Amino acid sequence: MSEVSEKLLNEAASLEGKSAEEVIKWSLDTYGDTVKIASSFGAEDVVLIDIAARISPDVKIFTLDTGRLAQETYDVIDQINKKYKVKTEFFCPDTKELEEASNELGPNFFYDSVELRKKCCGIRKMGPLKRAMSSLDAWICGLRKEQAVTRTNIKKVEFSDGAPTKINPLTEWTEQDIWDYIRVNDVPYNRLHDNGYPSIGCICCTRKVRRIEDVRAGRWWWESPETKECGLHKR
Ligand code: SF4
Repeated sequence: MSEVSEKLLNEAASLEGKSAEEVIKWSLDTYGDTVKIASSFGAEDVVLIDIAARISPDVKIFTLDTGRLAQETYDVIDQINKKYKVKTEFFCPDTKELEEASNELGPNFFYDSVELRKKCCGIRKMGPLKRAMSSLDAWICGLRKEQAVTRTNIKKVEFSDGAPTKINPLTEWTEQDIWDYIRVNDVPYNRLHDNGYPSIGCICCTRKVRRIEDVRAGRWWWESPETKECGLHKR
């Protein structure tokens, strides 16, 4: 992204404390066709889609299909596409890169070290994300502050040199807020949430959590909390 204008900076600052609806409306008005919702179809993402679809039926959504997603995730993508009459755009890993890594390191190399886990996320997520972002000026994400120690300082609008603006309409929402919204508005959601998975990514890197555990405790459960980001939301 080129230099951010003062007007945009002021508008972004004024959005802190505003509702998710107001932030999404601002995003769609400001960025038009060059903003999309980045969705892994977790609970936050389906809330974002429902809010955005009420504002604009033409809302655009993309997902990173890592090739390791759960069937339940594909099922909810289908349900969302049908309910909101949208066509989620898929971005997949580069076949050559994936073949080389699997042939050299085996199919489960991401369990072997943080570096190799990040290598896998690089191939299966970051590469496709880069292609998804190449035509965008902004992306809308479902990050919340209370989700993880790595997310406590997120802002509603985050500008970054040379990268699309990141918009986080749900920063202040609690997990309870998310589930109240889903139930009141009858939003389709990933059924794995009913089976002990509060946060869902690739199925091989996600496990069930106990009630007393952090919502992201099941993601890359073998790593310490400080390393548990795949690079998509590196700040
Ligand atoms: S979450 Fe696991 S399987 Fe998915 S891209 Fe990252 S390391 Fe690979």
